[in-house]
Amino acid sequence: MRACPVCGIELTRTKYEGFPVWECAKCCGRLAARSRVKAIERTRRKGREELVREAVGEKGADTTHELRCPKCHGPMRREPLHRYLDVRVDVCRSCDVIWFDGGELALLQLAYEATPGALRDAEFRERIETMSPERRARFEDNLRRLEAGPSDLGDAFAAGVVEGVLCAHHRRHRPR
Ligand SMILES: [Zn+2]
Ligand SMILES: [Zn+2]
Repeated sequence: MRACPVCGIELTRTKYEGFPVWECAKCCGRLAARSRVKAIERTRRKGREELVREAVGEKGADTTHELRCPKCHGPMRREPLHRYLDVRVDVCRSCDVIWFDGGELALLQLAYEATPGALRDAEFRERIETMSPERRARFEDNLRRLEAGPSDLGDAFAAGVVEGVLCAHHRRHRPR
């Protein structure tokens, strides 16, 4: 059996966005092979609203103590999840797996959505159509500057896009 490194209960083998993961029914934490994470990040079967709901609403707490790998039981290392996000995940280098606390995979997908490459995607442009005229004008202005300007502006803009979701995620997961 593979046990949840946070709760200790048995993990269930399931799929996330079509990719195999081990999931904890209690804390919504998920174990994924590192090789799958890039693909999960770019997959868009879930809508943005569903991802936001997951990122904010899933019950898991952002773990702060050292976790043991569910596969080899060795210590896991804390690593940053994404350069735009103040979130760390637990990694086992020997098994090449990553433990995501509840909501963190959704956060990763949302962060990818805010990168310049994804912003140019037709699918994303479609969503812009539904924005209010003022918001859309501001957004398109930002996008033009992003495409023309230096990458640090792009980073700042992308960070701004995910900031709202991240704040809500942190409010939910790290109550003061
Ligand atoms: Zn758990
Ligand atoms: Zn391991």
